[in-house]
Amino acid sequence: FLLAYDPAKRLGNLNVQLQRELVGVKRAFELIDHGKLEVSEGTDKLEAGRGALSFENVTFAYKHDVPTIKNLSFSAAPGEKVAIVGRSGAGKSTIINLILGMYRPSGGSILIDDTDISTVTLQSLRDAVSYVAQDTFLFSGSIRENVAFGQPNATEEGIVKALEAAQALDFVRNLPDGLDTDVGNNGANLSGGQRQRISIARAFLKDAPILLLDEATSALDGDTEKQLQAALDKLSANKTTITVAHRLSTILNAQKVIVVDAGEIVAEGTHETLQRESNVYKSLFVAHEIV
Ligand code: ATP
Repeated sequence: FLLAYDPAKRLGNLNVQLQRELVGVKRAFELIDHGKLEVSEGTDKLEAGRGALSFENVTFAYKHDVPTIKNLSFSAAPGEKVAIVGRSGAGKSTIINLILGMYRPSGGSILIDDTDISTVTLQSLRDAVSYVAQDTFLFSGSIRENVAFGQPNATEEGIVKALEAAQALDFVRNLPDGLDTDVGNNGANLSGGQRQRISIARAFLKDAPILLLDEATSALDGDTEKQLQAALDKLSANKTTITVAHRLSTILNAQKVIVVDAGEIVAEGTHETLQRESNVYKSLFVAHEIV
């Protein structure tokens, strides 16, 4: 009993869970700093189906008095591609963090396949959601271990297939020890584009119905960028995909674009309609938030 409530142990457990979702060490420390480690967790197991996602009047504040997300509602049908855009600080990453269960809304609810995610275990929530971030968290260990992270039953064949789908198999095979190559501390032995493809391979292996993507503002160089884009397109093909988008190409591929400003949805539509109707949307091009 005492052990189970030992704060250090709780912290350890949570840390492992955070890492499972590729959340960087930096963010883990942010959580610790902000005393947000006590994320309440439900007891049901989420039985995710096809990955419908909806926010219903969600409100959330990092600090008690200032809400970061205000009465926000949107939905993504199974397999739908939704792009979230907005100025820096608008609340885009916070929406992602809420879906990952890193924080709890103070009002409203987030549903996956009609289940309120606050009623389910973090483990089952995170099994339903893959997250590919722009600065991917890799731990010191082999490529094989990094791809299979969080999936103890992964087979060699599954890992190789995932690397291939992520357009990473060729570069991995050319490394001195192939799949056994140590990626170095936080992936230091790999390039940014390679790290990202390892994280895409991890998401392929996991094959969760919901995919969260955090797009970088700056493109990688030509070929790397193309490979990365091809891998991401393939990964998102049959998944409900929520992308924090900075590329016009991503926006044009999305079925729905949501414009967030100061924690609220100020417009929703396609590139064409938003360009006619939303000043906030138009301003994102001027500010190079969309390139
Ligand atoms: P960017 O495009 O710059 O990444 P964003 O739209 O993703 O911005 P968020 O990171 O969601 O914006 O931040 C929304 C607001 O919440 C900002 O005002 C930010 O300063 C604040 N914020 C973000 N993280 C925390 C935190 N851990 N504690 C307190 N405030 C935070």
